[in-house]
Amino acid sequence: MNTNIQELESVLERPQNVVVIPHKNPDGDAMGSSLAMYHYLKSLGHSVTVIAPNEYPDFLKWMPGDSEVIKFETKKNTAKRLIEEADLIFTLDFNSLNRVEEMKEDLEKSKATFVMIDHHEQPDNYATYVYSDPQIGSTCEMIYNFIDSMGHHNTIGREIASCLYTGIMTDTGSFRFPSTTSLTHRVIADLIDRGAQNAEIHSAVYDTNNLSRLHLLGTALKNLVLLQEYNTVYITLTRKELEQYGFKKGDTEGFVNYGLSLKGVRFAVIFIEDTLENFIKISLRSKGDFSVNDFARKHYNGGGHINAAGGRSDLSMEKTVEKFTDLLRDYKAMLTV
Ligand code: 5GP
Ligand code: MN
Repeated sequence: MNTNIQELESVLERPQNVVVIPHKNPDGDAMGSSLAMYHYLKSLGHSVTVIAPNEYPDFLKWMPGDSEVIKFETKKNTAKRLIEEADLIFTLDFNSLNRVEEMKEDLEKSKATFVMIDHHEQPDNYATYVYSDPQIGSTCEMIYNFIDSMGHHNTIGREIASCLYTGIMTDTGSFRFPSTTSLTHRVIADLIDRGAQNAEIHSAVYDTNNLSRLHLLGTALKNLVLLQEYNTVYITLTRKELEQYGFKKGDTEGFVNYGLSLKGVRFAVIFIEDTLENFIKISLRSKGDFSVNDFARKHYNGGGHINAAGGRSDLSMEKTVEKFTDLLRDYKAMLTV
């Protein structure tokens, strides 16, 4: 664990202009942690805005505070002004400014003091106050610890509890990944006591399928290729397939995990053609000690965690798959021992 976050306590004693930023294409943990921080800092009397780099899936939009979130991509002038005027900028659930893409320039120009709270491997060095711990399964669990360490446990009411519950649930695969500890369950128990409605939250996030998304999942599963000799599977989804089923942001979330449900499989990858730009988004998942963070950093200009990472390819789908299967030869020993 790497932290000097306790020093923030005195900074937060004076009212501050705060901007809270999740990573681009924010997921449940990124939005959950950002909105929880928003409610927490507002309860202390600070002036707070969450600025998301871009749009996120509808199944996250029920979260309390969502209607106040500004999206940089569609409200650039407001967002730029808020960043310029900020005293403090919290960057949550990411640890490299590259993860906010076009917002990076404005953040680099800003004179604000940066705070990073994050659980990804190998943090960059842009923040004055850092709480970084890749052992913890979600940034939301870290926000809970943070609020507690500031001596403000009692500010956690229904709103903060619901946001934190969401991120812990989504980033732990509904409490099943190895990063789920007894401490995670203690935090979750407390969040339920403080008003998080567990069954409702699970349903709001996961029971939002429409028929075309299920059909898209069907296509992804049909496209799944098992490379038995490497204990590896990959899935492809082309732009054409996505468009055929009326793809919307978030529709492919979780698809990659189906690969890992095959007996013996240790490495699962999904290649998804972007529907607007010319690149392929890659999601990588593993079981055990095969590091997809290393793999994504080395070959796909990405990163993440040991068992869940992302990256991109600028080659065609065909070339991307060819490069991937070629690469696997070098990893055969690691994937089969
Ligand atoms: P996903 O595959 O669901 O997009 O991402 C899996 C994990 O890897 C998430 O924790 C996400 O934050 C991280 N991740 C995804 N894409 C990138 C990337 O391009 N760079 C880095 N450093 N991490 C990423
Ligand atoms: Mn996370």
